[in-house]
Amino acid sequence: MTSPVSNLLLASLSPAYRHSLIARLKPVSLRLKEMLYDNDGPPKFGHFLTSGMASVVSTMANGSTTEVGIWGKEGMPQSFHLLGNAKVPTCCFMQVAGTALQIPFKELQKEFQEVPEFRECVLQGIQSHGFILSQLAACNRLHEADERLARWLLMVRDRVGSDSFYLTQDFLATMLGSRRTTVTAAASALQRRGIIKYSRGRMNILDAKSLEEAACECYPTIRNLYQDFFSANLVA
Ligand SMILES: [Zn+2]
Repeated sequence: MTSPVSNLLLASLSPAYRHSLIARLKPVSLRLKEMLYDNDGPPKFGHFLTSGMASVVSTMANGSTTEVGIWGKEGMPQSFHLLGNAKVPTCCFMQVAGTALQIPFKELQKEFQEVPEFRECVLQGIQSHGFILSQLAACNRLHEADERLARWLLMVRDRVGSDSFYLTQDFLATMLGSRRTTVTAAASALQRRGIIKYSRGRMNILDAKSLEEAACECYPTIRNLYQDFFSANLVA
């Protein structure tokens, strides 16, 4: 069973408040493709992810899609919804099945409005996530598919805490916003070098050090931002 405090946002709260909050959260399993929010109104729930990974995906008018962000156990994908009533142009679903502690979104809003400690932690997470998004925007514009694939696989590895995870081939293309053939070629090149093994939807990272060398400079930048999530007030 994953520990509730494997979620970094929850881990950063003071023990007394964290205990009272966790008592009101419901442990849930999140299956592959399960929607955490879409662009049709406010989410039903907030999810403190404790394992797995969620993708934030943007869809254009012609139906083409690309991943614009990811969330793992560092936080809560519905954080941005707490800031106001803006219509969200993205959706977010589980890309690697996992677990979370769930709370009705209305209760989450109340907590955000009434508990300064909780609000400060959520805002800290939003700031870190915002900086990661700006790095990803530059990466998607300036870096090649093969180095972005390596960067992305390392980001998933950090979030799921494993060298092995299931990924659909279609999603690899969505993630890179590239043609499927481009992604297949990039993955095949990494596989030929013995860095990864991708078979029947299971991705195995065989040589993380070489994968880091194959990734663009954005990976260490994003890793540092990820590791700094809530670190200023992290409770041991
Ligand atoms: Zn990059």
